[in-house]
Amino acid sequence: MDQSTIKKLVAENGVEFIILQFVDVIGNLKHLELPISQLEKVLEGEVMFDGSSITGFTSIENSDMYLKPDISTFAVLPWSEGKEARFICDVYTGDHKPFEGDPRSCLKRALEKAEALGYSGLNVGPEPEFFLFPLDENGNPVFTPHDEIGYFDVSAKDRGQKARQDITRTLNAMGYEVEALHHEVAIGQHEVDFKYGDALVTADRIVTFKWVVKEVAAKHGFYASFMAKPVARINGSGMHVNQSLFTASGNAFYDANDELGLSSDARHYIAGILKHARAFAAVTNPTVNSYKRLVPGYEAPCYIAWSCSNRSALIRIPAARKAATRIEVRCPDPTTNPYLALALMLVSGLDGIENKLPLVAETKENIYHMSDSIRAEKGIDALPADLNEALNCLEQDEVLKSALGRHLYDAYVSTKREEWDEYRLEVHPWEVKRYN
Ligand code: ADP
Ligand code: MG
Ligand code: MG
Ligand code: MG
Ligand code: MG
Repeated sequence: MDQSTIKKLVAENGVEFIILQFVDVIGNLKHLELPISQLEKVLEGEVMFDGSSITGFTSIENSDMYLKPDISTFAVLPWSEGKEARFICDVYTGDHKPFEGDPRSCLKRALEKAEALGYSGLNVGPEPEFFLFPLDENGNPVFTPHDEIGYFDVSAKDRGQKARQDITRTLNAMGYEVEALHHEVAIGQHEVDFKYGDALVTADRIVTFKWVVKEVAAKHGFYASFMAKPVARINGSGMHVNQSLFTASGNAFYDANDELGLSSDARHYIAGILKHARAFAAVTNPTVNSYKRLVPGYEAPCYIAWSCSNRSALIRIPAARKAATRIEVRCPDPTTNPYLALALMLVSGLDGIENKLPLVAETKENIYHMSDSIRAEKGIDALPADLNEALNCLEQDEVLKSALGRHLYDAYVSTKREEWDEYRLEVHPWEVKRYN
């Protein structure tokens, strides 16, 4: 898409407002809205904002920043009837350099690293799950699931199904290719899958997806939540990340001559993910609540292992081969900052490839049912038990620290440490019940 196509689309749709979007360090979507009279300035990348008010960006002394739209992300918002359009932007410093603290720039740097090693790109297919909660008479969410049905179920007058279909329509109108929509395992839980694509495009799509789902859910009288474990003792919401490296000649993870159909690149990549998982969990599972999802018995991984079919392992290799050969990393949840999550998983995998890390044997048994001593014997480590442990692991991981870069690393860890410290000040109702 070029500038003149954009001007044409703006005129054709009668666009009145342009929304400039980017994410802060922890992945919150930020919007700056401008009337269409400012389009020229937007396209020239001349729009300034105050970086000191954005979590993890800059200090007050050095706060002037620019938003440079990535014009390939232009989209007219289907729910605004043509009156609003958006761009996702790269953040630049006051002296017009890419800002190191911009999560999008971190993913770009990781992709450059893959390119330098001879890969044309990373393909990513995410599976973000979410809950729909009903609203009370004042329009506030009630965190009790809105239905009583489960995996692949429908019920008469299924309002959730209608909302999923409307979400799909909206996403497709914005250029997604939705592949499947269904009720998930937990009551009130849903999944809408879209086709895999280039990592940067997909990270943009994940942040847009969450926004679209919330907007459309609200139209249907629901509150959509991407929280990892909103309701105790039922499945939480994950965001499995299917990933495969490509070269000019195709899927680099596929090898027709291997007994499992996996290339040595795939094996080393998996080994790299296993090696760094405890540290990247601080990003892929970024909240205090995220670790309440990573417990045995709810289809979420807790142990660092891989397998071809076993859903209790951190990495599953779906059966599809040839162009669809991929690994599915099962720990991330949809509260993650997708730019940082994809960057850190990619760099972990590349570390495995560069250093030819050997891959441990596949774990075929259900790990939830293994005793601690058997797990220890097999060398199967656990994911961190809480955010604090994950942050400690990230602090020890030089490969991931340098992938984040100084600015993002410091900003991310200090923001998350504050979150942890705030949590420690609370006394949970469970504690009072148990220890009074
Ligand atoms: P599951 O069986 O785990 O529920 P889904 O069908 O929900 O899996 O999602 C699979 C995802 O994998 C989709 O987003 C799909 O587009 C994506 N995918 C397919 N092939 C590849 C590939 N080569 N690389 C990355 N992702 C892929
Ligand atoms: Mg799925
Ligand atoms: Mg699912
Ligand atoms: Mg599926
Ligand atoms: Mg899956």
